[in-house]
Amino acid sequence: MTYPTQPTASHYVNGAYVEDTEGTPMPVIYPATGEVIATLHAATPAIVDRALAAAQAAQAEWAALGGTERGRVLRRAADIMRERNHDLSVLETRDTGKPYQETSVADASSGADALEYFGGLAGSLTGEHIPLPGGDWAYTVREPLGVCVGLGAWNYPTQIACWKAAPALACGNAMVFKPSETTPLCALKVAEILTEAGAPPGLFNVVQGAGAVGAALTTDPRVAKVSLTGSVPTGKKVYAAAAAEMKHVTMELGGKSPLVIFDDADLDDAVGGAILGNFYSSGQVCSNGTRVFVHRAIRDAFLDRLTARLADAVIGDPLDPATNFGPMVSEGQLQIVLNYIAKGVEEGARLVTGGQRLDRPGCWITPAVFADVTDDMTIAREEIFGPVMCVLDFEDEDEVIARANATEYGLSAGVFTRDLQRGHRVIGALQAGSCFLNSYNDAPVEVPFGGVKMSGVGRENSKAAIEHYSQVKSVYVRMGRVEAPF
Ligand code: NDP
Repeated sequence: MTYPTQPTASHYVNGAYVEDTEGTPMPVIYPATGEVIATLHAATPAIVDRALAAAQAAQAEWAALGGTERGRVLRRAADIMRERNHDLSVLETRDTGKPYQETSVADASSGADALEYFGGLAGSLTGEHIPLPGGDWAYTVREPLGVCVGLGAWNYPTQIACWKAAPALACGNAMVFKPSETTPLCALKVAEILTEAGAPPGLFNVVQGAGAVGAALTTDPRVAKVSLTGSVPTGKKVYAAAAAEMKHVTMELGGKSPLVIFDDADLDDAVGGAILGNFYSSGQVCSNGTRVFVHRAIRDAFLDRLTARLADAVIGDPLDPATNFGPMVSEGQLQIVLNYIAKGVEEGARLVTGGQRLDRPGCWITPAVFADVTDDMTIAREEIFGPVMCVLDFEDEDEVIARANATEYGLSAGVFTRDLQRGHRVIGALQAGSCFLNSYNDAPVEVPFGGVKMSGVGRENSKAAIEHYSQVKSVYVRMGRVEAPF
């Protein structure tokens, strides 16, 4: 079967698709069936060089435009993305395996939100006037950084490309984006749409490849900033490489986030939050609340309600709009998850439901819930990045706060309670960048998103992202005479 939206070559450089068959072949596999749906080629050094040169040339021209003009291009791109939401969602589903029921509301649409939001901000990115004694004054200028590199994970290929491109371009930067080699298709469509919306050639380029291509981009002297969405081990490498040349970074990394459910919580909402925070996108979401601390008094009721609702999961053809649970992204990721499940059983956790590989082609597993999980178990400490929920019991507020914070990660945290004071008090004490009260995993573009501790550096989305894609120049203006000591 062919799909009209499939990109026509591996890379997108200087406003056009580019192929270089010298690069290592990269088969793209539809995880729902195991079928190879495209074969791309990793970027050769020549392609990387062309992309960076094109970005550098485009950046100067782009930065010289008025912010409103830049914003208009981004907002046009947002409109095109929304018009093509169906086709882009089908492509996202084929790239990742995520069900169309999700991709049609959470991927191109979220990317369009970012383009629209930062397009709207572009015209108001100004400095400030600072009055000083004696009539002197200073002003600040918000300047772009230059050429930015974006490195993407495989779970949200369209969204990640847009969350990085939109603020970068709004601030007057250019970008070279490298998608995950597992899901290389969607970012190419973002590039195509930006060109169609009026972005100059070279402003947003996409080059394919694995970590080596990302490393070549990170260390290139033409690059001023690197924004990574990925795992903590990769984040450490990329951060260190960027630091060697004092480059700016944004690091959106992994997590093992706590979701704390008190005994006064609305049980259905809490179960819904736990489902959203563990099984959406088959659990392949960085901010997932995978350590679900449930107050002992409601633990059994919670598990009963949860298992009843999981029985309603529709696992099947991801392109069928009725399906709400798709496959894992790849055989490799599925094996990682199966190994964690085996480890959980081996270390004494109780597998309440799921965790079985389905006997069909593709990377299918049923959503798994472990109960009687203790803090020291491997499944409670390490990021699994799959549909595995760990339920841990607790009795006391101070105890649960201490246990929730006893991790190197700090991406997200959630609390379910009807007690207003307790909700804010506990959220205030949790070490996490993106928190939820009586909700889980919302990510509107207006709100800063990012982690503390090992989960990251910097913030995406919201006005906060502007700080990470621009730098401030201060200009001191003396109105009187210059008084020197000699
Ligand atoms: P990885 O860390 O494996 O890869 C992320 C990207 O970095 C990929 O494009 C990868 O290339 C590239 N890369 C790998 N090594 C290097 C290197 N040395 N230099 C430069 N680039 C490199 O992450 P995954 O793709 O496996 O994604 C899953 C992880 O991402 C999870 O830990 C998850 O929590 C995190 N994540 C964080 C989010 C957040 O916003 N905080 C959101 C989504 C995911 P390639 O893979 O092609 O080899």
